[in-house]
Amino acid sequence: MNLLVINCGSSSLKYQLINMDNEYVLAKGLVEKIGLETGIFTHDPSGKYKVVQKHNIPDHTAALNLVMTALTDGKYGVIENLNEIVAVGHRIVHGGEFYSSSVLIDDDVMIALEKCVELAPLHNPANIIGVNSCKALLPGVPQVAVFDTAFHQTMPEEAYIYPLPYEYYNKYKVRKYGFHGTSHKYVSNRAAYVLEKPIEDLKIITCHLGNGASIAAIKYGESVDTSMGFTPLEGLAMGTRCGSIDPSIVTYLMDKEGLDISEINEIMNKESGVLGISGVSSDFRDIESAAENGNKRAQLAIDVFNYKVKTTIGSYVAAMDGVDAIVFTAGLGENSPVTRKEICLGLTYLGITIDDEKNNTRREELVITTKDCKVKVLVVPTDEELAIARDTKEIITSNILDKVLI
Ligand code: AMP
Repeated sequence: MNLLVINCGSSSLKYQLINMDNEYVLAKGLVEKIGLETGIFTHDPSGKYKVVQKHNIPDHTAALNLVMTALTDGKYGVIENLNEIVAVGHRIVHGGEFYSSSVLIDDDVMIALEKCVELAPLHNPANIIGVNSCKALLPGVPQVAVFDTAFHQTMPEEAYIYPLPYEYYNKYKVRKYGFHGTSHKYVSNRAAYVLEKPIEDLKIITCHLGNGASIAAIKYGESVDTSMGFTPLEGLAMGTRCGSIDPSIVTYLMDKEGLDISEINEIMNKESGVLGISGVSSDFRDIESAAENGNKRAQLAIDVFNYKVKTTIGSYVAAMDGVDAIVFTAGLGENSPVTRKEICLGLTYLGITIDDEKNNTRREELVITTKDCKVKVLVVPTDEELAIARDTKEIITSNILDKVLI
């Protein structure tokens, strides 16, 4: 069963074609700079040479056309015919309060996705275009929506209601939604598997530390709190995002600098975080090497980032009244032993001691605490595409079964 996984950003499109009989990735790739003068198309078929092409790619339909052509190309394709694609799984950023799990896309789902556009104006429109383009190019092929927000819909009210006038929740659905849900769900399940314990018995804190970063408190398999909020701007300091700051700073800076709404949004989303503090880069590799060379602001950016992670972990220990495992994932969480070590040095009150040899790992699934530690720390590489493909397979399989039973 070949499933296509699609992740549409505002000017990019990532894809993977996965054979779900053995979860083997047949091909993956990326279309960048959609709508700009020259788009870049990278297609990476398993066992064949990678292709990088420059094209005029005016929109997402044109991008998907390139993908379909590449997948069936005589030289670098991996299937003979598009009929071999059984279903498409779409990463959808915002499902609002409509969806707490993945869903087969029909007309009602499309209406709900449109309603969520105002909650995710940068992401949901691109996701909707992706679904519509796939419908046009693969008529009759089932499409499944897998939401970034869905996993966090189990949060209790006290975690998701902001202390604002309640009418804004009623009128505009202003509340915490949380993001990176597919990743938090996937790595928490993997952690339970590695620890050989049912997830229903575990309190897990998952730290998705990449360019975008968030932490989730997962009690007995359900998300009970997470650091991103109404938008993916809340929470930790990130590559370029400021995370949680005193809200009054926004109006203060708008007044002092004469900024309008889009300018202050740009500053908080694109010019802040570790880039803003260090002035060096949003990439932790650059910041770590600048800090090693004595750049004090680079070191400060790292310290601020680690401090926020550490204190957020502490608050989630409180939220769950304990913790059994802490998981590091995503670009930085999977690849930076020094980040994991620094953060865990502040967790000795949990009895955590890091085994330096085990911690010196990259992109590998393993426990990195010493044997005697009650609270385990793990590295678990995330795989959002595989998680989307698994949900898609489950939904179309149960849909086929339902039809047979009816
Ligand atoms: P992601 O958004 O999950 O792709 O993570 C991207 C971020 O991971 C990059 O911006 C880097 O800061 C970080 N990263 C990736 N590899 C490394 C590494 N070897 N050491 C430190 N940071 C890394």
